[in-house]
Amino acid sequence: MLESPVRYIKGVGEKRAYVLSKLGIHSARDLLYHFPRRWEDRRYFKKIGELIDGEKVSILGRVIDAESTVSRKGLVIVKAIIDDNSGIAYLTWFNQPYMKGRFKSLKGKRIVAYGTVKRSKWGVEIENPEWEEIGGEDSLNLGRIVPIYPLTEGISQLQMRKIINSALEFLAPQLVEIIPPSIREKRKLMPISVAMREIHFPTSAKDLSEARRRLVYEEFFLLQVIIALRQKEYKEEKGRSLEFDVFGELERVLPFKLTEAQRRVIEEVARDMREGHPMNRLIQGDVGSGKTVVALAAILIAVRCGYQCALMAPTEILAEQHFIVLSNMLFPLGIRVTLLVGGLTQREKKLAKQLITQGETDLVVGTHALLEEDVEFKNLGLVIIDEQHRFGVMQRATLRQKGLNPEVLVMTATPIPRTLALTVYGDLDISVIDELPPGRQPIKTFWVPKSRRKWAYSFVREQIKKGQQAYAVCPLIEESEKLQAEAAEKLAGDLSRLLPDIRVGLLHGQMRPKEKEEIMQAFREGKIELLVSTPVIEVGIDVANATVIVIEDADRFGLAQLHQLRGRVGRGEKQSYCILIATPRGEEARKRLQVMTETNDGFRIAEEDLAIRGPGEFFGTRQHGLPDLKLANILKDVKILEEAREDAMELIANDPHLRKHEHRLLAREIRERFGEAIEMLDIG
Ligand code: ADP
Ligand code: MG
Repeated sequence: MLESPVRYIKGVGEKRAYVLSKLGIHSARDLLYHFPRRWEDRRYFKKIGELIDGEKVSILGRVIDAESTVSRKGLVIVKAIIDDNSGIAYLTWFNQPYMKGRFKSLKGKRIVAYGTVKRSKWGVEIENPEWEEIGGEDSLNLGRIVPIYPLTEGISQLQMRKIINSALEFLAPQLVEIIPPSIREKRKLMPISVAMREIHFPTSAKDLSEARRRLVYEEFFLLQVIIALRQKEYKEEKGRSLEFDVFGELERVLPFKLTEAQRRVIEEVARDMREGHPMNRLIQGDVGSGKTVVALAAILIAVRCGYQCALMAPTEILAEQHFIVLSNMLFPLGIRVTLLVGGLTQREKKLAKQLITQGETDLVVGTHALLEEDVEFKNLGLVIIDEQHRFGVMQRATLRQKGLNPEVLVMTATPIPRTLALTVYGDLDISVIDELPPGRQPIKTFWVPKSRRKWAYSFVREQIKKGQQAYAVCPLIEESEKLQAEAAEKLAGDLSRLLPDIRVGLLHGQMRPKEKEEIMQAFREGKIELLVSTPVIEVGIDVANATVIVIEDADRFGLAQLHQLRGRVGRGEKQSYCILIATPRGEEARKRLQVMTETNDGFRIAEEDLAIRGPGEFFGTRQHGLPDLKLANILKDVKILEEAREDAMELIANDPHLRKHEHRLLAREIRERFGEAIEMLDIG
């Protein structure tokens, strides 16, 4: 059975099941879906006489003899001599004296061997080859296209091949065809059982590529069917029609003119809200592009039409900042704003919740605290989620459910190419703010080694003496919030000593909300000149007079994080600077820092990030409540993705609840595997 524990597969016992679990393999199905990392073509045997130094080859020959010697250092070296009529090759093993006897007994027999050729004045040699006697059975390891699997300690390629082969024998025929026959025919997809066999043990390069296409198609297809179901769900909901001339009112409260991009996106939002079904829109815009204004516009429309709004942000500091900025603008218009974050006192929370329930507040700004059960709205009409990549699908859904099909606006600073957006955000309409407010100068980014740290801070000091402000971000510590806070404290202490004439402030996640707010306020007012912080300032903080950011141990951060952090400066018209302090060890970290110094373009950074990390980690598809992509490469398999998307959309249009007979296996698969993510859907 596909779902039975892997230890029941032939060749897997209790002990090996434990080893496999470290690879994320728990069930028999997981074993089948443990795809090779790559394949090696070992079908063709090369003549020994034609071997070239350094190439990887398979050879086939007769065992002539075996001999052993002991090196000066006491190493036992066994060499078996193989002849294939074109020449003689030595197969060499170190410290495996029993190999001599083994090969003596094989004298005159034919074997195949695979490995890297070493040519020297002693002749042709292959060290530690994979090898096998040619017997009656088909070999899994030689004389064919051979899979190379991701492994962990305690299991070898040979063992893995054997286990997967025996799993295939029993289970491949049990795999269910979830792609309806008409689509399989249209796209010429091979049967799943064949594809599964071929992806592991391909008969030919062509079969391998067809098998891969079939499995990649299936991954995309499932994903797109789920997305199509969600999309249809939203479209079917009855919403309200909210109409209000928002531009007039915006002009009155904003101290600046909207950019063209902001104007266009606000028009799209206003149109969504005017139409009968609920808005479900994603706003994509690089850091500093001015997404908050779009949120403000949506809030004005909803409130003017008599509805309450909720804005959820991932951190308390960001929520508090939104609260301050928005209440400043909305207060003169008579719009009531309330803050709800975990750090409030019990009494404050209780009061906030009362205001929300009784409809005595128009906008609630908060964190996850908004999701708590006893937060009940009188008439929630608009939900806004800032920095949406920090939240999961379920959290988005929970907030929605506090209203009756409210309008939904989500905002993100992670720009991704359109095809990719279709895979992860496929159920959302997308607007892009592709323009920064006028007068922004590109941030200058420097990468300095740790040895020049003093120089970095003398530069900071110079800027502060010119009237600017600065951030210093302490090294990232993922293990614990407490250690993270300590790291910030330590850095603040260091810098106070290093820069005795500068007013240094400290901000970290362990502080009480009141304290945090006081610090942020002092920073906004210029009373603090250098703000030392944990990476919590990463999202959204906006102080235009801060023009320098120093990131300590920058090599510990991911690209997206670095770009977000850098986005804390360059928010006004003055030249801003980002200083990355790092002496990286690995090549990847070096590459990230390099990219940061080369570009300010969030789009390019996202692409580089994707290339460095791979799509799985980049998107965290799990978090979006979507199936994992194991084989598919979102960057390279765009054509298959588009086909799968087209087919999925058509299928759901024709059979919106997957009730047709030919779709029942698909419906069952989705229910069984993604039950939680599609809880709210009515299918099958
Ligand atoms: P983000 O997209 O990163 O959330 P914000 O909404 O925080 O960006 O805006 C960044 C800064 O740019 C804020 O200080 C905001 O007041 C300012 N800003 C936004 N739109 C404009 C504009 N059209 N002209 C000038 N400044 C703007
Ligand atoms: Mg923002």
